[in-house]
Amino acid sequence: MKRAIRASSFALAMAGAFLQAAAAGQSPRQVRPPIKTPAEEANYLAYTQAEAVASFLSALAARTPELRVSTAGRTLPTGEYGARDIFLAVLAGRPAAAPADLDRSKPTVLFTAAQHGNEQSAKEAALWLLRDLAAGDLKPLLAKVNVLIMPQTNPYGNFRDVRANELGLDMNRDHVKLEAEGVRAIHRVFTAWRPEVTIDVHEKGDDYYRVSIGCVSNANIAAPLQDFSRRVVLADVERALKGKNIAFFEYLVTEELGVDTSSGAARPEERRGPREEMKRYSTTDLNDGRNSLGVFETLSFIQEGASRHDLETLKARTAWQYSGLRAFLESVAGHAPEVVKLVGGLRARLLQRAASRADNDPVHLRMEYARDPAAPELRLRRFARGAAAPAAGRVLRVDKKAGETVTAADFVPAPPGGAGVEDEVVKHWFPNVRPTLSVTRPRGYIVRGGRLDIVETLLALGVEVGMFERDAVVEAEAYEVTAVVPSAADYEAPATIDVAARAVKAPVKKGDFYVGCVQPAANLAPCLLEPQSAYGLVRYWKFNLVPEAGGLFEVLRYTGKDAPAVIPYRPWRP
Ligand SMILES: [Zn+2]
Repeated sequence: MKRAIRASSFALAMAGAFLQAAAAGQSPRQVRPPIKTPAEEANYLAYTQAEAVASFLSALAARTPELRVSTAGRTLPTGEYGARDIFLAVLAGRPAAAPADLDRSKPTVLFTAAQHGNEQSAKEAALWLLRDLAAGDLKPLLAKVNVLIMPQTNPYGNFRDVRANELGLDMNRDHVKLEAEGVRAIHRVFTAWRPEVTIDVHEKGDDYYRVSIGCVSNANIAAPLQDFSRRVVLADVERALKGKNIAFFEYLVTEELGVDTSSGAARPEERRGPREEMKRYSTTDLNDGRNSLGVFETLSFIQEGASRHDLETLKARTAWQYSGLRAFLESVAGHAPEVVKLVGGLRARLLQRAASRADNDPVHLRMEYARDPAAPELRLRRFARGAAAPAAGRVLRVDKKAGETVTAADFVPAPPGGAGVEDEVVKHWFPNVRPTLSVTRPRGYIVRGGRLDIVETLLALGVEVGMFERDAVVEAEAYEVTAVVPSAADYEAPATIDVAARAVKAPVKKGDFYVGCVQPAANLAPCLLEPQSAYGLVRYWKFNLVPEAGGLFEVLRYTGKDAPAVIPYRPWRP
C-alpha cells in the first residue's frame, strides 16, 4: 500500500516537472526531479540503511560529474546481517577518482559519520550534505574545497541501531588497534588522500547545545591547529548557527571528578559514593577518531548533535547536524588558502623537527586535564533539570554521553509547559591539557621480525615501516623494566610501568623491522611504541607487550648516528 502511494506521488512529481519544462520551452528529457535523501524519501519515519545509501549514491553519481564513489572497505558478515560495503564519495570541482587527481591547492575535507551505529542523524546529515554539494546549493563550494564523505562507516550498527559494530567493537575506541573494518577503511582513506581537515560526526545526549564541535586535544598535535580550530572554525560555526537559533558550544565531556573513562576499557562498575562532576574538552586519547588523524598534523574535529535517539526527533536532530556540518564546511572554504598553508606548513615542520631531534622537542606520552587559573569556572546554559525538551513527551532522566546505551528506563515523561533553560556554573572546569611524561623522539624503533601483528597495525595506521635486509649489530637503547603492575582491563595502560633505558649493541636480523621517526607519523610512532605511553600498543592485550619486572621491553630505540640500511616494507599505498 505504501509503495503504491509513493509511486503515484513520484508520478505526480514527474508530471509537474514535465509541465514546468514545457512552460520553460525545455525538452522534458533535460529535467530531472530533485533527488531526495533516503531520509527525506521516508519522511524521516525510518533510519536509512546500507541498501538505500547505495541506491542514493548511484542516483547522485549518475547525474553529477563532480562526484566519484568508491568502496573503501567491507564489513564482516554475521548470522543476522550480511557484509556491506563502506562507501567513499569524493566531490571535487575537478573530478577525482584517485588521490593523484585531486587539486591540492584546495583543502580536502573528510567527513566520517556513524561510527556509532545508533547515532543515526550523523549519517542522515552526511547524506544531506552530500546531496547539496552534488546537486544543491552547496555546489559552488567545490570551487574552493575538495570533499570526501564516508556517510556510513558502521552499517551493522545502523541496522541494529546499536553503538557497536558487527564484532561488538566500539569503533571510536578502535583507532589504534584497528580491528573494525569500518575503522580500517577510515585510515585507508586518510592515508591515501591525506586530507587537511577531518570531522567525525556523532550524537551526544539530549542537550541545550544542539550542536557541539570539538577539536584536537592531544598535546603532541601542534598548538596552532587547536588555536585555528577555536579562533576561526568554531567561531564561524557558532555565528552561523546563532543566525538559525541553534545553540552551539564547543564539545564538552562530563565526568566524575578524578575519573577518566575515555580509554574505552570495560571496567567493572565501581560502587562509590556520589562524586562531584567535572567538565573538560574531549579526550586526548589516540584511539579516538579525531586525535588519531589529528596526530598527523590535521585540523581534525568531532561534531556531536543533541539526540534523544528516537524516530520522533530524527528530522529535527538531522537538521541540527546538517546545519553544523554546512557551517563547518563553509568556514573551511572561506579560509581555504590559509588552511592549506597552515596544515602543509606544520606537516613539513614536523618532518624537520623529527630530523633534527632537538632535546627541547619531546614527544608527550602521558598528559592530564588541568584547570586554567585564568578561567576557574565555566558558565553554561542547560535545560532545567527535570524539565522537558520541547516537542516529544519524554525526556532523558540523566545526561547520556555520546552513544551510551539508552533504554526506556532512562526516559521520564516530560512535564507539561515545555523546556525551561537555566544557567549552570561549572566549578570543576579543566580546559587545559598538561603533559606529565615526555621522551625525546629517537631516530627510530626496532621491532622484531616475528611481530607482524604490530607491523601490520602500523601499516594500516599509515605508519611507514622499513625492513633490515641483512644481519647487523646496531646502537640502540633497551628499556629494562624495573617495576610493572599490569592493568586490570584491556585498553588500559599498565597501572605501573617503570623503566630504565640502557645503551646496548643490539643484534638485528634480516627481516627485522625499523620504524623511522622522520615520517608523517613522527608523533604517532613513539606514542604507539614506547612502553610508558598512555596511548601505546602496550595497552591492548592482543599485542601481549607488557613485560615481566626485570625483563626488557621488546621494542628498541635505535640510536645509531646515521639511519640504518633498510628497505621500505610494503610501501605501496592502499
Ligand atoms: Zn558517538
